[in-house]
Amino acid sequence: MQDLTQQFLELVRLAATSLPPDVEKALGEAVEREEEGSAAKGALDTILTNVEMARENATPICQDTGTPIFYVHYPEGWSTRKLKQQIRDAVVEATKKSYLRPNAVDSITGTNTGDNLGDEHYPTIHFEEVDGDTLTVELMLKGGGCENVGAQYKLPDAKLGAGRDLEGVRRAALDAVYQAQGKGCAPGILGIAVGGDRGSSFLASKEALLRTIDDNNPNPQLDELEKTITKEANQLGIGPMGFGGQTTVIDTKIKAAHRLPASYFVSVSYMCWAYRRRKMTINGDEVIYA
Ligand code: SF4
Repeated sequence: MQDLTQQFLELVRLAATSLPPDVEKALGEAVEREEEGSAAKGALDTILTNVEMARENATPICQDTGTPIFYVHYPEGWSTRKLKQQIRDAVVEATKKSYLRPNAVDSITGTNTGDNLGDEHYPTIHFEEVDGDTLTVELMLKGGGCENVGAQYKLPDAKLGAGRDLEGVRRAALDAVYQAQGKGCAPGILGIAVGGDRGSSFLASKEALLRTIDDNNPNPQLDELEKTITKEANQLGIGPMGFGGQTTVIDTKIKAAHRLPASYFVSVSYMCWAYRRRKMTINGDEVIYA
């Protein structure tokens, strides 16, 4: 099996220092919507200048490294133990090169490990065997501030008037945005899971964030709900960094997961404007980064 440490390192560099084109485009369109001279426009202009500088200088887009979450889709016969080690080696190297600030802290002692490695869940690596010969690895760096404003709802919720249906999902999602009130570095992107148990629901909400901004949900009902939530969240007037304005949420992505009849969870993973996710595909000697 190939040693892919250098390829993983490049994936980390790209994710940490170069915002994906679809996200940058959406932020550029958001600037156009904001009033000339407004705090919202100023915040978005600063964000975009920062994005450009980070790419030019190969420096982190944000000082918050974010939790590195890898999704590895590997062909039959590959060793997940070796892939995990190579990913961990790449994370250490990326920290030495300052693509990632050391940000992994022992929860009990508060000690920073200094190399972004922690227990077996840090960095988080999800493995899934797939058909064919192509290895696909997606990486998301999930900021702490935005993770703090994520929320999970157990429907029905009498306070929100939210029942166990898509109208209830809409109410829960808008409540999460309202409660965030600009914390978590708006404008944000909502990854929402409907269903699952408490754990799998949050996992699915993060998987929803792997979709690109410009795609449509293949389920027409969810597609319509995604667009409605984005539109209505932007009518709340919270705006970039909570300064007021037209753009509180850039996009909404929803994923449905099967559930027990007894439970109806809605999990909202809030992603900040620093929507750092990148993808690498490897087939033989060909390596493609996106
Ligand atoms: S929430 Fe996002 S933009 Fe804000 S500090 Fe954390 S990573 Fe950076």
